[in-house]
Amino acid sequence: MTEAVIGLGSNLDNPEQQVLQALKELDGIPGIRILKTSSLYSSVPVGPQDQPDFVNAVALVKTELEPEPLLNALQDLENRHRRVRLRHWGPRTLDLDVLFFGKRIIDTPRLRVPHPEFRNRVFTVIPLLEIMPDFLMPPENTPLRDLTGLLPERDLRALTIIRESSRFPFSSAGKPDLH
Ligand code: ADP
Ligand code: MG
Repeated sequence: MTEAVIGLGSNLDNPEQQVLQALKELDGIPGIRILKTSSLYSSVPVGPQDQPDFVNAVALVKTELEPEPLLNALQDLENRHRRVRLRHWGPRTLDLDVLFFGKRIIDTPRLRVPHPEFRNRVFTVIPLLEIMPDFLMPPENTPLRDLTGLLPERDLRALTIIRESSRFPFSSAGKPDLH
């Protein structure tokens, strides 16, 4: 069992519902259980600006899967949300990234973990800080909280909570609500 952090993002076709639905589906994948989810945040796009704002969240999961099978499962889920890759960093109905996989360092053509852009993005750092304020990042056990001062001021100002995590407790069959 490994604890992994998944980043979720959407800016098309009712992004809030896309993310809420994806969280439920993620929890339903065999070998993946959600331990904690952040609130939903609204963020300004990275890259092309002529596209809608994003809804973002992160989830801490416990998984029996190895990293590549986990990525396969996430990509299947993206495809079920009819994600179409139109252009790099362009609009998408659902983007799922592996931000951390335990303390492992992975660098293959398909998978780089920790996610190389994690530390530059307010919409990954701030939601993770919400659920894991004391997280120490591999490879050097840097405190997550040390990153906040380095984030772009403009992005920080634009980031807003649109739905508190306590307002969407999920209950998979037979399990207690997690929040
Ligand atoms: P981005 O998330 O950077 O906007 P995409 O979601 O289109 O881009 O991902 C492109 C590729 O990134 C995927 O085909 C996947 O193999 C690769 N990739 C590399 N590292 C990761 C990671 N940590 N999580 C998810 N995908 C990754
Ligand atoms: Mg991605």
